[in-house]
Amino acid sequence: MKIKDILTQQQNFFNSNKTKNINFRIEQLSKIKKALKENEGLLYKAIYEDFGKSEFETYVTELSLLYHEINSCIKNIRKWSKRKKVSTGIINFPAKSYIIPEPLGTTLVIGAWNYPYQLSLVPSITSLAAGNTVILKPSELPSKTSEVMAKIINDNFPSEYFCVVEGGIKETTELLEHRFDKIFFTGSIPVGKIIYQAAAKHLTPVTLELGGKSPTFVLADTDIKMTAKRIVWAKFLNAGQTCIAPDYVLVDKSIEERFLEALKNEIKEYHKNTENIEENYLRIINVNNFDRLNKLIDNDRLYFGGKTNRNERFISPTILQNISFEDEVMKGEIFGPILPVISFTKLDDAIKMVKERPKPLSCYIYSKNRKNIDKLLNEISFGGGAVNDSLMHLSNSNLPFGGVGLSGIGSYHGKAGFDTFSHFKSILDKPFWIEPNIKYAPYSTWKLKIIKWLFK
Ligand code: NAD
Repeated sequence: MKIKDILTQQQNFFNSNKTKNINFRIEQLSKIKKALKENEGLLYKAIYEDFGKSEFETYVTELSLLYHEINSCIKNIRKWSKRKKVSTGIINFPAKSYIIPEPLGTTLVIGAWNYPYQLSLVPSITSLAAGNTVILKPSELPSKTSEVMAKIINDNFPSEYFCVVEGGIKETTELLEHRFDKIFFTGSIPVGKIIYQAAAKHLTPVTLELGGKSPTFVLADTDIKMTAKRIVWAKFLNAGQTCIAPDYVLVDKSIEERFLEALKNEIKEYHKNTENIEENYLRIINVNNFDRLNKLIDNDRLYFGGKTNRNERFISPTILQNISFEDEVMKGEIFGPILPVISFTKLDDAIKMVKERPKPLSCYIYSKNRKNIDKLLNEISFGGGAVNDSLMHLSNSNLPFGGVGLSGIGSYHGKAGFDTFSHFKSILDKPFWIEPNIKYAPYSTWKLKIIKWLFK
């Protein structure tokens, strides 16, 4: 079916008001969960074929988040969609005032490839929970996962309500020619700009979940072993192909050697049960990205790792040392299993370097010193992050997830997601039994006096 026809169908379906019914929404969310559960085998197979992701990691980093989001929406949807009373004030006495959350209409969700299920389906689920219709365009790069999502969704839902349109630049460009009521995009900064421009033509509101270089501060008083353990897990999960992965580390010079040693030990520990890491470690998504990453491994700065195999698109967990902000690896988002470590002697200098660059999506701070933690939280602007941990803020759906500045516009997860896909209609509601005449002509000095007194 043509994109134009699907969209017309969705507009008609939305206008039928069926999606306004909360029971209908709950039924659909339960149906998504059932369809995903019934097809888990296919979901695991597809993602393994695309980039060698194991069942364990797929469940932990993708499916668990989907089920959590569905459960949270089902549990809270009545509360979130309720009218909210607000005070009215004397000016409008005897009226009442309230806010009605209402769905926006037809929405377009464009996904990125690195967590293909989560990044495509979490926003779709939230949009449906808020009462919208959805056209989902997953990333075409992991072709099997795109295919399996299209199959599961299109077999279980009518296209007038929820539909997957597969494709790359051509199909996305065509989708963007049409007017949606909301576009939710996850991906790179350059493509984010294309989406924003296309949306502007129709004045369509957008949420842009973009990327960037997320710094990780390691201060002198930290627990070095635990810090290394948490950073290694967060950085090398998904072979570093995580938008909020610690992109680089800024470590206090006084603990640099001990910290590097601890990172190395943790990587060894992490993979000690992996007989052949080359066979079992997650793949880089494609050869283009492999070549881009391979060029970033400067052998003169190599501290650990650096094993590569182009045919297998394999890069082992790699640490680079003696790095400065001028190095190639610090020019763009790494998005792979390479961790540059930069040392600093004055915290203020490190903060300055970070602040001179675009606002990051995430920032992580490892320290036991509350004063320094608060200083960093206060002085650096970033989307979200964690103190003495990395990545895990994403797993708490009470924390709105999104960027700031170049790392994105808007946020989602939990209630924030519901709000992102809603309009808040403000209503003043008045009875007929009385009408104070003060605003009406004829104007008089005593009326003006009263008005001035009311607004003094
Ligand atoms: P990408 O921008 O290349 O692609 C994202 C989507 O845009 C895909 O569906 C793709 O088909 C489409 N697209 C690509 N080029 C297009 C064009 N010229 N016109 C229209 N559509 C186009 O991003 P990616 O490679 O899939 O993902 C990696 C990037 O996404 C990284 O920068 C990463 O940090 C970021 N990311 C951000 C988040 C987040 O939640 N903030 C999550 C994951 C990834």
